Amino acid sequence: MLKEARNVLKTYFGYDDFRKGQATVIEQTIGKQNSLAIMPTGGGKSICYQVPGLVTPETTLVISPLISLMKDQVDALTSLGITATFINSSLSNEEQRDRMAALRQGRYKFIYVAPERFDSDAFLRTLDSIPLSTIAFDEAHCISQWGHDFRPSYRTVVSRVKQLATIPTLMGLTATATDEVIRDLQQLLDVSDDHVIKTGFARDNLTFQVVKGQSRSAYIEEFVRLRKDEPGIIYAITRKQVDQIHFSLKEKGLNVSKYHAGMSEMARKDAQNAFIQDDTTVMIATNAFGMGIDKSNVRYVIHYALPKNLESYYQEAGRAGRDGAPSDCILLFSGQDIHTQKYLIEQSEMVEDKKKQEYGKLQAMVNYCHTNQCLQSYVLDYFNDDTGAEDCGKCSNCKDDSDKVDRTKEAQMVLSCVKRMGERFGASITAKVLRGSNDRKVLQFGFNRLSTYGLLAHLKEKDLVEFIHFLVAENYLIAEEGKFPVLRLGKRAVDVLKGSAPVMMQVAKVEKRETGEYD
Ligand code: ADP
Repeated sequence: MLKEARNVLKTYFGYDDFRKGQATVIEQTIGKQNSLAIMPTGGGKSICYQVPGLVTPETTLVISPLISLMKDQVDALTSLGITATFINSSLSNEEQRDRMAALRQGRYKFIYVAPERFDSDAFLRTLDSIPLSTIAFDEAHCISQWGHDFRPSYRTVVSRVKQLATIPTLMGLTATATDEVIRDLQQLLDVSDDHVIKTGFARDNLTFQVVKGQSRSAYIEEFVRLRKDEPGIIYAITRKQVDQIHFSLKEKGLNVSKYHAGMSEMARKDAQNAFIQDDTTVMIATNAFGMGIDKSNVRYVIHYALPKNLESYYQEAGRAGRDGAPSDCILLFSGQDIHTQKYLIEQSEMVEDKKKQEYGKLQAMVNYCHTNQCLQSYVLDYFNDDTGAEDCGKCSNCKDDSDKVDRTKEAQMVLSCVKRMGERFGASITAKVLRGSNDRKVLQFGFNRLSTYGLLAHLKEKDLVEFIHFLVAENYLIAEEGKFPVLRLGKRAVDVLKGSAPVMMQVAKVEKRETGEYD
């Protein structure tokens, strides 16, 4: 059977070999076993249902929450001579009726629909009337309430599917799945443990970098100029920021487009098409841009500001290098962005528990900017990816050849100060106590009487706060989730306080900042 699948891969798609995980998912699907495929962006998830769909005689149904992606996928299949269509709300009623009629006549090998289609009983009856081999759930993390982009309407599809007279083979596909999401999806889609295919999230062709202490506008101008023929995406947080960056780069004669939800649909479409067709090389956008955009030759993704969590960051950064060629993912860090993100959480309508969870995720994102660990490994650890990836050897931390300096003594002072302050305060007041400040709050709590008061008076407050962030990022301290994070001792603190473990830090990063300016 796999031989036939290999033939299909070659004849229709022109590829010689399957990528990691694809063959297993395809074999299971052809063998009518439900699967859950967890592969990184660009890992080649579509092939996992397209190849079995071509090997078996029946129709394959793909459910996707991304309307924009459906048309692209259908166009791609049609151009390969494969019969495919999509049915969604972007079509007129008449067109929808025509396509449904053609579906009933068995004219399509592949049909793409949005989750909402399953609200219709008529649609279910149509599915009952045709030979259907497989139902693929694209972006399956959106089904799970634990997923970062949960869509309740998608979850109800699962129970509707189970109302079909014959339940086809089910397949879930996603690039982002925590253990909770995986368990949830397994249960919903009836996937046994040995049918979960997890290829690991590592993206070997991507180089991750965190850039601190530089003027961000100067940085991107120089970067875009240097790589002016390469397609890239620059993500900003607000529409205003997008407009500003776009204006300033365009003024300098660079070939840029912009995209955000404040623009008309037509303007957005034009910008998107120009970028996809390589008419413009750089897209400056908010996170509204990218979901479902299949542009494989993006050579870099720069985040002009801190994203709200690592799930979003990795997904957005992961839009670079989908074709497998070397590409860069650069995050420009400025401490002020933490306040912006906190403000956005605070202003949101989320319930308190959810806000707390979001603060926790933001903290992990901030830790990414402060850690000395390999950035790729840091992300993989965050997603509990235990596929055994080693340090990437090329991210800004792996490449940082500055000497590691022993900071054990300073760390002991910070840790014991946090302890003496009752583990109830944040980084900035802790830094003030260690510097021996006469700040009103410091005196009010009597912290000037602590034995750790003034122990690190020779350090600048900014550097001390940075050092505390580093201790958080490396698990010596915990910044408890909340609007004002409270410092507590972390799991690595005890050994440091006992003097049995050293704290080593790459110092150049801190020193470099002193000469840099923030914008
Ligand atoms: P995903 O949905 O996992 O992000 P896609 O299905 O869009 O990824 O595939 C990403 C790119 O990889 C596409 O350009 C696709 O044609 C290509 N691709 C998929 N499978 C293979 C393969 N076995 N060999 C070579 N290229 C592949």
